[in-house]
Amino acid sequence: MNVAVLRLGHRFERDKRISTHLALVSRALGAEKIVFDAKDLRIKKSVDAISDSWGGKFKIKFTDSWRNCIRDFKGVKVHLTMYGININDIDIAKLKARENIMVIVGGKKVPSDVYELSDYNIAVGSQPHSEVAALSVFLDRLFEGDELEKDFEGRQRIVPQESGKKVEKV
Ligand code: SAM
Repeated sequence: MNVAVLRLGHRFERDKRISTHLALVSRALGAEKIVFDAKDLRIKKSVDAISDSWGGKFKIKFTDSWRNCIRDFKGVKVHLTMYGININDIDIAKLKARENIMVIVGGKKVPSDVYELSDYNIAVGSQPHSEVAALSVFLDRLFEGDELEKDFEGRQRIVPQESGKKVEKV
């Protein structure tokens, strides 16, 4: 299963930190790439630096036309929105059977056609919260926790400790 995240509504001044977090969550929780609708190379630089030390093949991409990006995607398109169907009522096994999944998250108000361009509009509960939280819960449901055991084959890795910190060079 290949998962691509599409982040809509990135605002250059306001959203650097939260968009960076979206990229980090996408990478750490099993997505292959994230696509932004605004070219913000600061995010690419900081996330690429993390991948350089901690491993993985995560990619950061930018698009001039997010609508074409959604339309041209060969796979199932899932838009995360509080107005959608509760994730508890979604047949996740059916989603997992698909080879390619695009997960769309917004920031500021999402243009209304995103709801029609998407195959699924899924809510992580019907209360407003955060794109980072919605994406995290969705990916964890999709991968059923397996994503937390992925070996990123980086130049360094954490040796989990009950107390304290241990990092080893590989
Ligand atoms: N009115 C927005 C909405 O449609 O969900 C909330 C805006 S919120 C600041 C930014 C993004 O967080 C949304 O575009 C959506 O992707 C995600 N989000 C927030 N709450 C969510 C929820 N309960 N379920 C799924 N996604 C949510």
